[in-house]
Amino acid sequence: MSDIFDTGTTFKQLGLSAPILRAVDDMGFTHPTYVQAEVIPIALAGRDILAQSKTGTGKTAAFGIPVLEKISRTKTPFGSLILCPVRELAVQVAHELRNLTRHTDLRVLPVYGGQRMNVQIPKLKKGPHVIVGTPGRVMDFHRRGLLPYEHVEVAVLDEVDRMLDIGFREDIRRILGGMRQEHQTIFVSATIGDEIEKLARRYLKNPEKLVLTASSLTVSQVTQHHFSVERWDKNRLLVHLLTHETPALTLVFCRTKQTVDGLCSYLNRKGIEAHAIHGDLHQGKRNSVMAKLRSGELSVLVASDLAARGLDVDDITHVINFDLPEDPEVYVHRIGRTARAGRDGIAWSFVTPDQGNLLTNIEKLTNVEIELADYPDFEPGPVPKAVQMERERKAELDATRLVTHSRVATEPPPEKDAVDPTKFPGGKVPTAMPKRRMGGRVRTRRR
Ligand code: ADP
Ligand code: MG
Repeated sequence: MSDIFDTGTTFKQLGLSAPILRAVDDMGFTHPTYVQAEVIPIALAGRDILAQSKTGTGKTAAFGIPVLEKISRTKTPFGSLILCPVRELAVQVAHELRNLTRHTDLRVLPVYGGQRMNVQIPKLKKGPHVIVGTPGRVMDFHRRGLLPYEHVEVAVLDEVDRMLDIGFREDIRRILGGMRQEHQTIFVSATIGDEIEKLARRYLKNPEKLVLTASSLTVSQVTQHHFSVERWDKNRLLVHLLTHETPALTLVFCRTKQTVDGLCSYLNRKGIEAHAIHGDLHQGKRNSVMAKLRSGELSVLVASDLAARGLDVDDITHVINFDLPEDPEVYVHRIGRTARAGRDGIAWSFVTPDQGNLLTNIEKLTNVEIELADYPDFEPGPVPKAVQMERERKAELDATRLVTHSRVATEPPPEKDAVDPTKFPGGKVPTAMPKRRMGGRVRTRRR
């Protein structure tokens, strides 16, 4: 555990005020984490910061404590704006900040889409000191003149790499670009690639860069394995694992909302009580699923990447990548939902035979070997008829291509774009081998 907590330091030594020290104590924090011990004094000194630290290492308090210390001195309404990519994360960060302010008179307000405007507006009119919000809703209230940027003394981007990726980049440019006054800026994430760092630096003045991800991007408390499985066996393998391994609280990640819903129904049909969360559900439903998750009423949550970042739920014992993510950084965040604040956790990933490269990319990024797990008591099913037929069709097509290729090689090449309807679909005769051919499959123990 000492790779997360700086047991040689106390919060008192970091120069915190009495009310915040009391709150930290109430929250049961005895020692700061390393990222807190590094970030807090530098942020208190007023420097801009770009900090990378692993999932579950207490980045919220690392930026939250100095924000609250600074605003408690000036008591400026709208003195700090903290932006998060997902509504549930904004709520969670606001909750942690409220815990930290319980012995002060500072007001923290979460502001996010899907929430009733007329509930929010009176609260905004009271001039809260700290706003924690998602970009869309923040901009909306700004346009209505209810959320000024010109009072901001400290701006924070949590999950900065997500906030500066293409989906949010323009919103962030507008929001941070709207702060013309002198202000401090703090950016944090567990993953910050070179491109994102370049973009981030446009918003930072002479920043202190802190990287606390030495040797690997994932915490050592998480045990990672992969299962080699055919696409059509994934549902059954999941049920097998959920019933044979009896994980306590499992988060299952799928690539699309449709897979989330389909898998959730499948599990329910198999007698496993599973719930779903993704962006197409209305906010009321999202809130009730989150409440169930936090109260421990739920044992399996099937999720889209909506739940991949930031969420801090104490007892998630297992994260299962039902679909491997395309982006290796997403893997880091997904499995970071377990093994938080020094606890243990297990991460399993389903890898289909054509996903060897994705797995390798993840291993390269994280600098961790994700070993193959054996599951001897699971019986893989037969190749489905449709897949069998598709394979035969492809094999035939390949054979035809080979024949055509050798014939073309001995005859003068046909005129460019010549159309012969008796030959290929569209009449185009290929003059070269296809770029990618069958094969190149990852080796599995079952083959
Ligand atoms: P990150 O943002 O780095 O993923 P969080 O800020 O969500 O991590 O913190 C993870 C968990 O650790 C939270 O439940 C938080 O309350 C707890 N935590 C943070 N700092 C400490 C500390 N110094 N001691 C004990 N627990 C802590
Ligand atoms: Mg976080």
